[in-house]
Amino acid sequence: MPDRSGGLRVCALYPDLMNIYADRGNLLLLERRCQWRGIGFTVTASGLGDPLDPDGADLFYIGGGQDRDQKLCALDLAEVKRDALHEAAARGAVILAVCGGYQLLGHSYELGEETLPGVGLVDLVTVRSDEPRLIGNVAIEVELEPGVGRVLAGFENHGGRTHIGPDAIPFGRVLRGHGNNGTDGYEGVRQGNVLGTYLHGPLLPKNAWFADWLIQTALRRSEPLEPLDDRLEGAAHAEARRAAGL
Ligand code: GLN
Repeated sequence: MPDRSGGLRVCALYPDLMNIYADRGNLLLLERRCQWRGIGFTVTASGLGDPLDPDGADLFYIGGGQDRDQKLCALDLAEVKRDALHEAAARGAVILAVCGGYQLLGHSYELGEETLPGVGLVDLVTVRSDEPRLIGNVAIEVELEPGVGRVLAGFENHGGRTHIGPDAIPFGRVLRGHGNNGTDGYEGVRQGNVLGTYLHGPLLPKNAWFADWLIQTALRRSEPLEPLDDRLEGAAHAEARRAAGL
């Protein structure tokens, strides 16, 4: 069960290797939005070779990374942290993986001759393409509650193309930008509280409502979080939507 008295416990996986495009900013936003409401917040790190306690966090975060760093992390995820992440997912912990981290959530990431193992949490494969990278501002529509569509806006930059399998559900529908592979109109993946997305951005400062959804879900609170003065966050979100052409 989550540690309600201690507030939100976040575990950042490979924060020194998988942290491009403002992943630190995403964690900082979670921290601030908890602090502003008087909710406790702790963040721990789990790097290469470190064991992972499946009950040690309410939210596990894997950020973006270059192919080179992903190779190191892919092997470690598969060999050292796989079982713990599966246990954490099974008990309903939130697992949020962005871009490079997202590419490692599934079965494999094929990079030319080499196939990196995925952690096997969701039904997807990623293949590195020789075609141009998929870069640009992006907007997607997600339905975190059935029937309630909301927009996430951010930025994507990936050479890998992700294809989700029949057992996986896309996180969102591409409104502007490329998404998983530039062809099927899907973005990201969602299986329960396991979420993967290509949206950098920084993702959470530009989509504060999503940060709050993550906090509430990770803490398993049924009552809504106290509203905050989100004028700046709202402006950042509006600007990200405009940048994506929405
Ligand atoms: N290395 C991966 C790719 O280019 C992911 C890059 C990233 O995290 N932005 O596909």
